[in-house]
Amino acid sequence: MRYFYKLLLQDKLSRMDTNEKVHCLIIGSGPAGYTAAIYAARAGLNPVLYQGIQPGGQLTITTEVENYPGYPDGIQGPDMMVHFEKQAARMGTDIRYGLATKVDFSGDVHKVQIDEEKWIEADAVILSTGASAKWLGIESEQRLNGHGVSACAVCDGFFFKGKEVAIVGAGDTAAEEALYLSKICSQVHMIVRRGEMRASKVMQDRVLKTSNIKVYWHSETDEVLGDKKVEAVRIKNSETGEKTEIPVSAFFVAIGHQPNSEIFKPFLDMDDAGYVKTIPGTSKTNIEGVFASGDVQDKIYRQAVTAAGSGCMAALDAERYLSAKGSH
Ligand code: NDP
Repeated sequence: MRYFYKLLLQDKLSRMDTNEKVHCLIIGSGPAGYTAAIYAARAGLNPVLYQGIQPGGQLTITTEVENYPGYPDGIQGPDMMVHFEKQAARMGTDIRYGLATKVDFSGDVHKVQIDEEKWIEADAVILSTGASAKWLGIESEQRLNGHGVSACAVCDGFFFKGKEVAIVGAGDTAAEEALYLSKICSQVHMIVRRGEMRASKVMQDRVLKTSNIKVYWHSETDEVLGDKKVEAVRIKNSETGEKTEIPVSAFFVAIGHQPNSEIFKPFLDMDDAGYVKTIPGTSKTNIEGVFASGDVQDKIYRQAVTAAGSGCMAALDAERYLSAKGSH
């Protein structure tokens, strides 16, 4: 018992330590963060990586990943992220559980607060905090997540080849994903909450001209139905109040993503949606020594493999920055 209290005290003291200084700090543990860690560790930057509240990131809530090169038989998303973590650890990354809660990028040395307690100083910081899919917030959507409910048609559409599926949303992502699904699935039911779409005109035209996409206007998702897997979706027409059940094998949510960038807002340039801006062709942000990789700076591709590639870029940019500064 005394040993247990000693451990607790040590943990508390290490959290209170405000003077920790690291060479390269990586925030986030998706494909971007771990890839940045692998490269940074091999380059001798002694990276410290904080995993955030969802170690492994968005891939830990998907099932099978079939489109990541190197896995000819596919792999479960959570298993793949364990591989990423192990590889980053084997290269010498100091991987820690903790959430970045505040940053101060105003000085030469960058400061990041962890779990609202401890401040860490770093010569270079790599942001790989990702983005979170927005969800409707209904109970059945949570319960059937990974069992037919998905927020990524490109990741999971293939599992419903030849089947009828539904997608909710009316922006460019929903339009793009509906078109993607229409090539794989027999019928796509697109649920649009207003009488018009937000998507660009050209994307709307494509959707409306695709014979196996049926659009349900003024429609809200009432419930996703099914016990262990998705079997149907019940929608409600907001003008007439009429409820309709559509038998489907999958339900895709495409109502936007939220980049996890809130804490960087006072310092970094971002677009209107909160995606961190990087200098094209690099991972450099507007602050020297702060680099961004993965979905927090990418609203277009959002794939594990592109995130991993940008994590590599961030580590190489950080290494060059530190070398030029003479601190590496
Ligand atoms: P958007 O925010 O543009 O669109 C979200 C859509 O989801 C809207 O149609 C919105 O409806 C709908 N929605 C939001 N909440 C709900 C809800 N609770 N129930 C039902 N529907 C809901 O997000 P996107 O991800 O589509 O796009 C984000 C940005 O990325 C945009 O700027 C887009 O242009 C861009 N993008 C560009 C691409 C490209 O250039 N190839 C590809 C994909 C995205 P409503 O309209 O009623 O508000």
